[in-house]
Amino acid sequence: MEMNSATVVKCLELIADAIHEQRQYLTDLDAAIGDGDHGINMDRGFSTVRARLESSSEKNIGAVLKLVGSTLVSTVGGASGPLYGTAFLRAGTALEGKESLTLDDVCAAMDAAVGGVMQRGKASTNEKTMLDALVPAQLALHKAMAGGASIALALSRAADAAEAGVKATIPMLATKGRASYLGERSIGHPDPGATSTALMLRTVANALAT
Ligand code: ADP
Ligand code: MG
Repeated sequence: MEMNSATVVKCLELIADAIHEQRQYLTDLDAAIGDGDHGINMDRGFSTVRARLESSSEKNIGAVLKLVGSTLVSTVGGASGPLYGTAFLRAGTALEGKESLTLDDVCAAMDAAVGGVMQRGKASTNEKTMLDALVPAQLALHKAMAGGASIALALSRAADAAEAGVKATIPMLATKGRASYLGERSIGHPDPGATSTALMLRTVANALAT
């Protein structure tokens, strides 16, 4: 499937559906190690994204992703709003003016997104955050590209890596964000932000696979 702006908008709508369906699960995960709002926050953000993209005929994928980023910054709140907002804003800047994407473009957008999250959140991997799903996904995308994979296959590998990353957060001690206030009691639970990252990537992978 060609990755043009209509495909990107479709993927964003499917992400909004998936977040809406999983909002209780994401909130339950956040209740265990945070304040129990992650699903509500993300659902509020992506339902606004959906409304703003409705009947969008924007061809510039960079502009679409920047709209998503600014919407998430202003509607999600918490730690994850500015972080996901930055991720989409940076990805949008990396794809400015593009009307269709190659795997090289997808990798560049992911690199920009991950860099933005790291800078904004002053975190790295192994701190039990969304980066523990994002960074493995980023590495999987690059590996798939080096191996000559299609965008669909690369994204399915990225989703696999993100899901493995979520599992790997279970035994981790949180050292960033609200979960870090729990100290040792943060151990034994998956990270909510890593889980929402994996959910988004799996949704895109599934959309491209069909
Ligand atoms: P809050 O913690 O403010 O209630 P959310 O519940 O919406 O915000 O989001 C929590 C998620 O944000 C965490 O599960 C984690 O993945 C992510 N997060 C928190 N702080 C950071 C950070 N400094 N860097 C990266 N991700 C972070
Ligand atoms: Mg929370």
